[in-house]
Amino acid sequence: MKFITADSAYCLGCKGCELACTSRKASIYAVDEARINRTVVPNIIVTQSQDMKIPAHCRHCQEAFCLQLCPTKAITQEKKVVVINDDKCTGCGICEQGCPYGVITMAFYTKDQKIKKIANKCDMCMDRQSKDEDPLCYTACPTKAISLL
Ligand code: SF4
Ligand code: SF4
Repeated sequence: MKFITADSAYCLGCKGCELACTSRKASIYAVDEARINRTVVPNIIVTQSQDMKIPAHCRHCQEAFCLQLCPTKAITQEKKVVVINDDKCTGCGICEQGCPYGVITMAFYTKDQKIKKIANKCDMCMDRQSKDEDPLCYTACPTKAISLL
């Protein structure tokens, strides 16, 4: 499994990575009836100050805080990738609060005419990697500020 890493020195702040991540998520949700109403949130977030652009992304920590904190055990590690099991996530937001990198966000969806929350994070494009394709944010970055480990 390849992992992404970002070097802010090469980041233009173009947000191409965010757009790529969002488009992948949207295409996954579009074929899944249960997730069709889910808001799409990018899993790499470019923050900008006057002099610096920083693409923030999940580090898939070995001893992931989010995994330890989740009360329903919805977060697991598969091939070293920290993933959220949608069916077990109750949207409590504890992982979002606990992530030291601020890269878990909450998304909304509609079920039984009620609006529900669900946690949203990078899965390292596991579906693409299983087909020998690279993570989409990496392929989208024009300056290779995002590289693979
Ligand atoms: S979401 Fe945060 S705490 Fe969880 S694995 Fe990624 S970086 Fe670590
Ligand atoms: S590796 Fe895939 S899921 Fe993770 S931030 Fe990049 S595009 Fe998004």
